[in-house]
Amino acid sequence: MVSNKSAGEQVRVRFAPSPTGRLHIGGARTAIYNWAFARATGGVFVLRIEDTDPDRSTEENTQIILRALRWMGLDWDEGPEVGGPFGPYIQTKRTHIYAEALEKLKAKNAVYPCFCSKEELEQKRAAAEEAGKAYIGYDKTCRDLDPAVAQTRIDAGEPHVWRLRVPEGHEPIEFDDAVYGHMSFPADVMDDMILVRSDGSPTYNFAVVCDDTDMRITHVIRGDDHLSNTPRQILIYEALGYPIPTFAHLSMILGPDGKKLSKRHGATSVEEYRDEGYLSDTMVNFLALLGWSLDGETTIIPRDVLCEKFGLNRITKKDAIFDETKLTWMNGVYIREMTPAAFVEAARPWLCKAAGCDDDGFFEGHRVWFEKLYPLLAERLVRLDEIPDKIAFLFWGNNIILDADSVDKTLKKEGCRAKEALLACRDVLADTSISWNFEALQDACKALCEPMELKPKLLFQPLRVAITGNMVSIPLFESIELMSRENVLARIDYTIDHVFEQ
Ligand code: GLU
Repeated sequence: MVSNKSAGEQVRVRFAPSPTGRLHIGGARTAIYNWAFARATGGVFVLRIEDTDPDRSTEENTQIILRALRWMGLDWDEGPEVGGPFGPYIQTKRTHIYAEALEKLKAKNAVYPCFCSKEELEQKRAAAEEAGKAYIGYDKTCRDLDPAVAQTRIDAGEPHVWRLRVPEGHEPIEFDDAVYGHMSFPADVMDDMILVRSDGSPTYNFAVVCDDTDMRITHVIRGDDHLSNTPRQILIYEALGYPIPTFAHLSMILGPDGKKLSKRHGATSVEEYRDEGYLSDTMVNFLALLGWSLDGETTIIPRDVLCEKFGLNRITKKDAIFDETKLTWMNGVYIREMTPAAFVEAARPWLCKAAGCDDDGFFEGHRVWFEKLYPLLAERLVRLDEIPDKIAFLFWGNNIILDADSVDKTLKKEGCRAKEALLACRDVLADTSISWNFEALQDACKALCEPMELKPKLLFQPLRVAITGNMVSIPLFESIELMSRENVLARIDYTIDHVFEQ
């Protein structure tokens, strides 16, 4: 079965999540591919919420998914909150579409009512199992009911579903998948599937076909867990006489152990990665490469390049491996490429956590100050959640929390002259004629080395411990510049008083 789309038609793709949980890595990748394909082809990216499973779908999950998509920067052209010509874009609000399609199928005698109860079907399944026979689906008991009899039963209010009348002797169902290539499924094993349940709600396969048609979807790009649904959906397209879109099924994402990615491997939802301090640019780039490549080599592919170059022809059917080490490395690359303003915006939760205050007034008032932290941190971070540990000391005021190991190795080391070094630096830092600027302060302290016959390290390391509490820290004099003279001197005094015997 070949797609009967006309050449040159505008691409229309959709991401169709079921709001039964958070946006998982696999779903996020599907969303990215649809979005990037629309952007690369000048097409339209539609978002549709598939909430027909009332037990598992929630409005809260819908909101979580929308938030995650927005965070990743995957803007949709049509869908919830933005509207569009084929709305509503939430399946439970589209019942009229499915009802109309059902009427169309009834008129063509392409569906029939089935009165078999769940219990009866269950018994048949159990009997087949007991007899050692494979259950081959619905036995078509109601397929040839006299239409008048069926109508009487419907009129009498007898519960019934509507099943697709799969044509007898249908040829194998074939289609050219943009990723998997030519696919062929025997039609005779296709069940007369239920399209509409006894409560009037559409099944997944029916709703998807109605919606994809109504929304003029040209390419269905989705996970290969739906591959086995595709021949069924093609039967529905045929029954309705609707054009069949191009399908592109995406392979699975596996953990490093080769098993399907799951909680066991760590975070699985987009929001968890956001909360661990991964950037949205990193996630889009990294997930795009789980099954697609630009040229087989390039790993840093910013979103504008992705939106220009993405195509279905470079999607692989090989399963993709989720490599967290690569993700973390890539995040470091993106952090180093940010502007200070973008950094402050993305890092807000962690900057505020370090400061112990997250109200808007505080954050806005400190924006410029926070931006000055960017050059001190950029080279030293691979995740934004590492920020609080690195900058906590800046918010200690006059207090200092000394790391015991750093004190032993830096201040108390035999013959290191740490007290002398601290006193000399204190004089420099107390000198108001030296401007409170890192270069001036650093030069003035460095000038002490020669007369004191001290190596710079032996001068600066004690000072670093006295100011930051630790022998490892972000650049010292740049940090000092961001603190007040009062705080700096108080910490040196405290350290001298508490570490050295008087
Ligand atoms: N709602 C389906 C899911 O979340 C996707 C259906 C489709 O893409 O056809 O798995």
